[in-house]
Amino acid sequence: MAADEFSLIAQYFTACGAAGLDTLLGVGDDCALLAPPAGELLAVTTDTLLAAVHFPLDSPARLIAERALAVNLSDMAAMGATPRWFQLALTMPSANQDWLAEFSAGLNAMACRFNCALVGGDTTRGPLTISITLMGTVPSGQALKRNGAKPGDTIYATGNLGDGAGALAVLEGELSTSAEDAAYLKERFWRPQARVTEGLAIRHFASAAIDISDGLLADLGHIANTSQVGAVVNVDTLPLSQALCRAAGPERRLNWALSGGDDYELCFTVPADKIAHCQRLIDEGRLTATPIGKIIEGQGVRCVDKQGMPFEICDSGYQHF
Ligand code: ADP
Ligand code: MG
Repeated sequence: MAADEFSLIAQYFTACGAAGLDTLLGVGDDCALLAPPAGELLAVTTDTLLAAVHFPLDSPARLIAERALAVNLSDMAAMGATPRWFQLALTMPSANQDWLAEFSAGLNAMACRFNCALVGGDTTRGPLTISITLMGTVPSGQALKRNGAKPGDTIYATGNLGDGAGALAVLEGELSTSAEDAAYLKERFWRPQARVTEGLAIRHFASAAIDISDGLLADLGHIANTSQVGAVVNVDTLPLSQALCRAAGPERRLNWALSGGDDYELCFTVPADKIAHCQRLIDEGRLTATPIGKIIEGQGVRCVDKQGMPFEICDSGYQHF
């Protein structure tokens, strides 16, 4: 690596985020040295954003940084883990100072908000690619895995579904709506909420969880497969934002809520004897979540409407290959 790249790292990527006492050594040495709390497991996740695949080529650097960290935070949330440290592998076509200043400001803001620190990474030249590895901790035995759903469990989703796909349609000029609703949807795309607080709130009672990045049906399908159960979703109960309802007709918005990507909400399952507790958190405003279906014996994910009639859906989630 060229000498001026060391100064780039020193300038933009040291002191990024909120380093606590658990960071013994951050950016600058051969490795970071981290001290997870005694009795907790390390939860580790990586997500990569490619220009022109995961965001439009001309996107603002600040938003790219925020989104790159947010999608990793969403995985951490889905595990019920507390985010602590992250590494950044940054590939960029050139070292543009204005771009880097904006990028590191966005990264710093998001990292401070979620109380985690940049502790190392790698910097290379090439097509713009941002790969972040986020590390967190979770008390042994409390991690929210995908394989714990049982017949009779109720399925919940946090927040609203379909906004991510709606936002992408706005960004790509395929959906026109009021300026206010377009702004709301774009904000949802660029700054996914990363349901970290919710993940911590539900880890005591949820039987399984996943974050919805590839569409509800695809991601709930992963819970169903790994838990060896089936799932029924009542499409009339799906939580949809008012902005999405104003922007898109019933068929389009339901398709987006079921199969659109980029929502970064959590989908989780709750055993019957824990539902009252879950509902209390919702009523007290400590958890924003909606019951959307049931886990059943069998396999696969089916959709029904409020009359219990089958609801057919066209496609099921984004796949890279
Ligand atoms: P090495 O040659 O040992 O791999 P590098 O020259 O790649 O080290 O990086 C020097 C230091 O800067 C290391 O501590 C590394 O973790 C850190 N670093 C490199 N790139 C980044 C980045 N994009 N963000 C944060 N830290 C980085
Ligand atoms: Mg290196």
